[in-house]
Amino acid sequence: MEIIKKAKKECLLCMEEHEVETAKIQEVELFRNREVTYTATYEYCSNTDELIETEEMFKSNDLALKDSYRAEVGLLTSNEIKAIREKYRVSQKGLTRVLGWDEATISCYETFQIQDRIHDNLL
Ligand SMILES: [Zn+2]
Repeated sequence: MEIIKKAKKECLLCMEEHEVETAKIQEVELFRNREVTYTATYEYCSNTDELIETEEMFKSNDLALKDSYRAEVGLLTSNEIKAIREKYRVSQKGLTRVLGWDEATISCYETFQIQDRIHDNLL
């Protein structure tokens, strides 16, 4: 566990105000029949010795898992998809229009959804 931040705030676990630590932890999870290793972020409460995810952390941890999976199976990660857009200076919607896809497709790929091989090859 690596502590990356400490801040006094209302703790979501014990409901008291105290120094809550933000920690990075290496996780291994079975995802689509593969053991995927990724780095997750949690808040740590020293009163209860427990970890909790904020809603934001839940989303970013989910994306970290899926990006590790994508890297392992040779699909573009969310950051690589972003980099393609930045290279051509197009918005998420702009890129979907060029490719003739549904408007939300790229936005989904950059936040929570894993693209299939056909979409990946097109990108
Ligand atoms: Zn606490």
